[in-house]
Amino acid sequence: MTEALAYVGLGANLGDARAVLTAAYVELQKLPGTRGHRCSPWFRSAPIDSTGPDYLNAVASFDTTLSPQALLDALQRIELAHGRERPYRNAPRTLDLDVLLYGERSISTPTLTVPHPRLHERAFVLWPLAALAPDLVIPGRGPISALLPSVAGQALEPAD
Ligand code: AMP
Repeated sequence: MTEALAYVGLGANLGDARAVLTAAYVELQKLPGTRGHRCSPWFRSAPIDSTGPDYLNAVASFDTTLSPQALLDALQRIELAHGRERPYRNAPRTLDLDVLLYGERSISTPTLTVPHPRLHERAFVLWPLAALAPDLVIPGRGPISALLPSVAGQALEPAD
């Protein structure tokens, strides 16, 4: 079975965000058909296009035999298990999990766009991603090191 290196973005800004992010990473490690999990350092960021308290963000990577859609389904199940509600677009959320990258593939279906369409413009994604994979090349966007300067204006701090 073919295996791809997937990158998943994790974000939380409601309730005990630290506990939620920790639990979400544990659940990612338990997903069938995944191995070799790594997690970036955590960062704190101010909400973009959203409201509420600061976010905690991280990026996880792992090898997976799950298809891209099966991975998205699994992430949505984990979100739901954490009581995520979607009262309106970009509402504050208990837990947000995104498929950032799936190997070198570019995917465009009604339910899934990979690379994630806003990945390259968000410091809270690019910095943890760069911490995990400094030499990463984003399909269609180029080396991650070349994308970081464009998000230099976005406040982000380590959240040890
Ligand atoms: P959000 O509110 O940001 O979690 O968006 C969730 C919706 O975005 C779902 O309906 C997904 O089908 C869709 N979506 C498209 N591409 C992606 C992706 N790369 N990762 C996560 N959700 C995605």
